[in-house]
Amino acid sequence: MRVTCTNPDCNKVFKMQLKEKNHPRGIKEHYFTCKHCKKRYTSFITDKKVRVLQKEMKRTTDVDRRMAIVKEVEERKKTLMQNFMN
Ligand SMILES: [Zn+2]
Repeated sequence: MRVTCTNPDCNKVFKMQLKEKNHPRGIKEHYFTCKHCKKRYTSFITDKKVRVLQKEMKRTTDVDRRMAIVKEVEERKKTLMQNFMN
């Protein structure tokens, strides 16, 4: 996937390559960087709980449970992102 860098001094198109970085307390950052200016874009954050839920989601055949997990994961990722940025 090709994206345009939002750094006004760069503004170049680059190929998005998602990478992972481990942080303390089981936090995993999924990010990509602009290959021109090295600007870092954090795509999303997961923690142990999110990854456990995602595993459960793959296993469960219960649609209601699956929907509940999707919602919980989305909300937790939002919170993790806010904590990570502050
Ligand atoms: Zn750039």
